[in-house]
Amino acid sequence: MAEIRIENVRKEFGSFVAVQSSTLTIEDGSFFVMLGPSGCGKTTTLRMIAGLELPTSGRILLDGEDVTMRRAAARDIAFVFQMYALYPHMDVRGNIGFPLRCQGVPRAEVKRRVAETARLLRIGPLLDRPVSTLSGGDRQRVALGRAIVREPKAFLMDEPLGALDTEFRHLMCTELRDLHDRLGATTVYVTHDQLEAMSMADRIAVMRHGVIEQSGPPQDLYDRPASMYVADFLGSPPMNFLAFRGAVGRGDRQVVIDGAEVPVPELREDRAEGPLALGVRPEHVRFDDAAPLRGAVVGAEYMGTTQIVTVATAGGAVKARIPSNRLVRDGERVGLAFRSAGLSLFDAGSGWALRSALHDFAPQGFAGGVRHG
Ligand code: ATP
Repeated sequence: MAEIRIENVRKEFGSFVAVQSSTLTIEDGSFFVMLGPSGCGKTTTLRMIAGLELPTSGRILLDGEDVTMRRAAARDIAFVFQMYALYPHMDVRGNIGFPLRCQGVPRAEVKRRVAETARLLRIGPLLDRPVSTLSGGDRQRVALGRAIVREPKAFLMDEPLGALDTEFRHLMCTELRDLHDRLGATTVYVTHDQLEAMSMADRIAVMRHGVIEQSGPPQDLYDRPASMYVADFLGSPPMNFLAFRGAVGRGDRQVVIDGAEVPVPELREDRAEGPLALGVRPEHVRFDDAAPLRGAVVGAEYMGTTQIVTVATAGGAVKARIPSNRLVRDGERVGLAFRSAGLSLFDAGSGWALRSALHDFAPQGFAGGVRHG
């Protein structure tokens, strides 16, 4: 088990900066997810932790020890890729035991550890099968087995479930998290799938253009996103943004959008002005005939017990997650009220949240009693 720390780590490929100076501590025993779109620098960061890529500058520490210049094989970290990279001519037993045989571990010990690993992964009955006859999920288990059997200090996983179909990915997510809880080894997991990240992580780092834009527990990122980018990346559908222009400041308890006064928790930001955006998640929007912020229904998506209704307002389209039994018609005029605990306020120019604005307040229920300005 290990704490992993990256300090001011930067990676350049020629003149291209793949990872800007980043600092991050991954706690011992935690399940840490690096999340972001293709090309944002997740894999490069992981490869530097593994020792497969040398940082251009900065340090990598494993349990407080500087391992920046130490080669991958000497770091005691196991890497699991999306591509299983199994040996097709060997059976499952041979594949899982391979790293131990390479280390010269005695035969009896190899046998014991392979059996124990197979038990953990519930693939005992497959041990004598050629890997070429296995399903994608079982191959991924074997690849995991080959990492687990080494009993490393930490696991690094790069989109390990990317090749599996959706249903199987959900199952494997649960299994992976369960396995992590039993082994207790620090795990760094790379994915572009926010649902995967939210369901498994103790902490998530959201990356963009080589920069860690925010890191923290999933619910903190979801409820208090540091930027419009993070707010948009997490959640399905993502957070709504209502654009407005004006000035807000300390003590304000409302913002004015298209002439409608929308109550917000008391602002503690010094002062912000210019293009601003009020962020509200679809589950924090409800219809309220008395609410002055109004719009027209332009579509509804049936989701079972709830539906996602899109309402066009002067500040932009707003998606509301409401019960399916509320009948809606295209073109219907509705008033929109927001649950104040679900609101965020952003500087729409820079995209960053007004940090001290709408955070740190107790849930207050729906802000339905909006008055017209
Ligand atoms: P993906 O999920 O597509 O792998 P990622 O977030 O993991 O995306 P990286 O693989 O870390 O992204 O790549 C970050 C950027 O660095 C990309 O633009 C990529 O083209 C570039 N890059 C990665 N490796 C190299 C390399 N060896 N030489 C040049 N550029 C590279």
